[in-house]
Amino acid sequence: MKRTIMTALMIAGTTASVLASGKLNVVSVYPDYGWLASQVGGDHVAVSVLAKGTQDPHFVDAKPSFLVALHKADLLLVNGLQLEVGFLPPLLQQCGNAKIQPGAPGYVDLSTFIKPIEVPVGGVDRSMGDIHPYGNPHYHLDPRNMAAIATGLAGVFAAADPAHGAEYAKNGEAVSAQLMSLDAEVAHDLSPLKGAPVVAYHATLDYFFLHYAFNVVGFVEPKPGIKPSPVSLMELEKAMRDKGVKLLIVENYEDIKIADKIAGDTGARVAVIPSYTGGAPDAQTYPALMRAIVHDLLGASRG
Ligand SMILES: [Zn+2]
Repeated sequence: MKRTIMTALMIAGTTASVLASGKLNVVSVYPDYGWLASQVGGDHVAVSVLAKGTQDPHFVDAKPSFLVALHKADLLLVNGLQLEVGFLPPLLQQCGNAKIQPGAPGYVDLSTFIKPIEVPVGGVDRSMGDIHPYGNPHYHLDPRNMAAIATGLAGVFAAADPAHGAEYAKNGEAVSAQLMSLDAEVAHDLSPLKGAPVVAYHATLDYFFLHYAFNVVGFVEPKPGIKPSPVSLMELEKAMRDKGVKLLIVENYEDIKIADKIAGDTGARVAVIPSYTGGAPDAQTYPALMRAIVHDLLGASRG
């Protein structure tokens, strides 16, 4: 691995000089913010993305290509709220790029542009689950958050590249407006499911559920990042029967078999959804992702 990394960094050095085209090199950990960065940055940014939309965002396998990208980045867009805690810190230590270290201007924590939900009150301990100790990190599935981040990114890009600041501001406004109209469209299309009792696998859609007024009865995971036990599944199935849950929503990288079993036991239907941009063939942009989720939820609820 060490030798691969060295080779990768040598290639990175070469690429950086070849790429001296005046563009801002932006690396986004997740594809949704990569999409957003491209919209806001237009021709003046070169965006690369580390994680794939088909991967569980908590457990991204690091590849040597990540170090290449990080080494030459001017800006690094992180989700924050500890979503990357399992894989990003060692990569930052190894990438040899002071510009994007935590605390440097090139380290952009996008969670600072939104208001997190499910922030534990009165301190953090392990009883709250494994992976969400500072609030729910899956804020990208509320388009209003993405609109706020678009505006934030316009400011970040302008600070890094003042010559194109006016263009970034204009693009930021345009994509914000596009996202707000996407939000209205999604709210309209989901109106048949307003108030519907649902169960989800993980807390990935909590911002989405809150904003679009779903009634979340429970999760397959008893706490974020904690695998279900026979007892927790029994309790969940009882709650689903009691509350008449007909829709069980599962991210497409989670354990579909458990979901199918629960659905078989309770008579609910399973919606297997992409939850990050690129997570399915029909979800290659952020607006397409939101529409794919709506489509999958409506399809499963109709049977
Ligand atoms: Zn999570």
